[in-house]
Parts: sequence; C-alpha cells; structure tokens
Amino acid sequence: MDLFHFQEEGPGVVFWHSKGWTVFQAIIAYMRRRLAGDYEEVNAPQMLDKSLWETSGHWEWYRENMFAAQSAGDEAEDKRWFAIKPMNCPGHVLIFKHGLKSYRELPIRLAEFGIVHRYEPSGAMHGLMRVRGFTQDDAHIFCTEQQLADECLKINDLILSTYADFGFDGEMTIKLSTRPDKRVGTDAAWDHAEGVMTKVLEQIKAKDGNRIRTEINPGEGAFYGPKFEYVLRDAIGREWQCGTTQVDFNLPERFGAFYIDEHSNKVTPVMVHRAICGSLERFTGILIEHFAGHFPLWLAPVQAVVTTITSDGDDYAREVLDACRKAGLRTEIDLRNEKINYKVREHSLAKVPALLVVGKKEAESRSVSIRRLGSEGSSVLTLDEALKALVEEATPPDVRRAKAQL
Ligand SMILES: [Zn+2]
Repeated sequence: MDLFHFQEEGPGVVFWHSKGWTVFQAIIAYMRRRLAGDYEEVNAPQMLDKSLWETSGHWEWYRENMFAAQSAGDEAEDKRWFAIKPMNCPGHVLIFKHGLKSYRELPIRLAEFGIVHRYEPSGAMHGLMRVRGFTQDDAHIFCTEQQLADECLKINDLILSTYADFGFDGEMTIKLSTRPDKRVGTDAAWDHAEGVMTKVLEQIKAKDGNRIRTEINPGEGAFYGPKFEYVLRDAIGREWQCGTTQVDFNLPERFGAFYIDEHSNKVTPVMVHRAICGSLERFTGILIEHFAGHFPLWLAPVQAVVTTITSDGDDYAREVLDACRKAGLRTEIDLRNEKINYKVREHSLAKVPALLVVGKKEAESRSVSIRRLGSEGSSVLTLDEALKALVEEATPPDVRRAKAQL
C-alpha cells in the first residue's frame, strides 16, 4: 500500500510515505477536534539538559531506555549532555510551573503530540508495533485531589468514544495496575490513589458493564503511581493495549510545582498522565491490521480514483477529478491506456475505496459509474449525487455527530 518503510540506517524509526502520513495526520486531526475546548495543546523541546532528567528521576530509573546527545563539533563551547526526551511529562511540568497558578485555574490539561525516543534492543523491535521513535497523543492534567475522580472518568469517556469511532466497539478490558515493589511516595498516598481509582473502575463497570471487563494487575503500576490500561480487541480477536491513565503524586513535587489554594496555601497538584491511542505509529499499525488495509472512507489515504474506459473520456475525467478535489475528497486520476479490468484490479489491490469510472456515455449524461472496494458490480449516479454521497461518507464520525446535534 506504499504507506511507510524502515531501513538499516534508522533502526526502529519510521520513514512515512505520503499515503501513510495522510492516515497518520487524519488520526491527529481527529484527536485535535476531540481535545478542542478541554485541552490546551503545547509543544515542549525535544532535547533537554541531563540535570532535568535527574530531577524527574528518569536518569536514575529509566536511563537504560534513553538516548543522549552532545554537540558534535570539537570546538563547541557547550559540551553538556542532553537527553532526547523519552517522555513528555517533565516538559509539561515546566510549562505548568511557568507563572503562578491559582486553584481557580484547575484542572489545567496540557496536550502534546509529542515525539519521544526510547531505546529498545533490536530483537524487541517489530514493524510499527514496536519502534524506537514514536509520537504519543499525550496529555498531563494538573488538578486538585477533589477533581481527580472526575478527571479519570472524563478521560475514560474520551478513550471509549475514540475507540468506537475507529471501529473498535466490541469488548474491552480495563486493568488497574497497583503499587510495585520499587516505588516512590508514602503508603498513605498509594492507599489514597488506589482507593480513588478502584472507585472509578467500579463506576465505569456499572455504566458500561456489558462491554467492559475489569481486572486488577497487582504490582504492575508505574513507580510513581497506579494506572489504568485500556486493552482493545481488533476484528479478529487480537488484544492491543493502547490507552493509559496514570495518577502521579510524585513528579510535580520533585519539580516543586504548586498552585495557590483558597486559603492562600501552596499545594502540590495531582498530575494525571494519559494517552488515548498511545503511540500513533503503533495505533496506525493496529488500524491497518484491524481493517486489513480496507480503511473506512474518512481514514483512507486515497479516497477515490477517477479512471476512463477509453481516451475519449479523458476531458470529462479531469473535470470529475477537479470536482472531487473541490469537494475535499482525496482523489487521484488514472488515464493510462490500459484495459478497464486491469485498472480495476490494480486499484482494488491498492485498496482504493471508490473507483469512479467514466467514458463517453458518462460524459454525455454527466454521471459516474462507481465501483466500491469489496463489492461486485457498479452503480451509476449523476456526478452531483455521487459527490454528495462520498462527501457524506468521508465525514469523520465526530464531525458527523456534531452536525447531527446542530
Ligand atoms: Zn507523562
């Protein structure tokens, strides 16, 4: 399908080709629409001084997974070590810390489509599913303890509705991972965090019990707090862990982050780390598997190809191409002097969802003959009808929902 490739010089990092990047960007555009109004999108630096990662604890706890860099020139005056970020969290804490925050401003939700690099041994890498460089649909929520349960439930709603929009509306498992042996923070803080999350899990189960199974994963939490892991199931029953929600009583304190409460006291906020799709590279890989390349129209890299039966349809085919592109459809044209059956077969193999076939007859009646991927035969519609139907079908599910509510 010509979506991406890997090569030796970039182990575990993706070369996205135009079509793959189109799918990737469609996912990001979807997530941006879902975040609008609730989250502020930010962007923190890719490379930060080692000392910052010492403060965060990554240098001690996570160094084996990190890449470090230094200026390469012999004469460079700044010879400090920098770490290439393996996570976006410290950057977001620094953004939160910039300027005094009042309890009235909370919750503050900072989102970033952050590119992170994590070292993986070469044997662990596996196509898009396990890479060394990837983009997270990451966010960190800074809130009060009282807001914590509501924030977890809100994230849960976002995760479940997102998965449903991408076609994963079957059974799901949510795992609560509790305190590991190696951890930071007091037992009282862990008791409290696990207590809140256990209650949230019960609420989720009560609301959506038919679809959602819940499990406890003892000892599998992050070193800084307990977490929910969302495991979705694809078309053929394989399970994929994608989203996480992690409650953190530790990192804001290590960085000295605080807000001013209603009694003018400095209080450390609770930090919630959350990702919906997780790694967007991996999520794209899961979508490719789930749909077996046959994407729904709103995600398909090429949504339609206009092609001709004989060359006397060429001028009209170009008109149809123009009309499709003006309507916002990702459309290509195939005017090659090949037999129509050959062209149909080739575009089917490339998983193009809609083939608009035109000849002299269609030009005269200003119509198109549409062949859909995966179904036999074709149907003839006027150009206007065809465009209307395709545009409607290519509307992302969240946009369609918003329109229906108008
Ligand atoms: Zn984080």
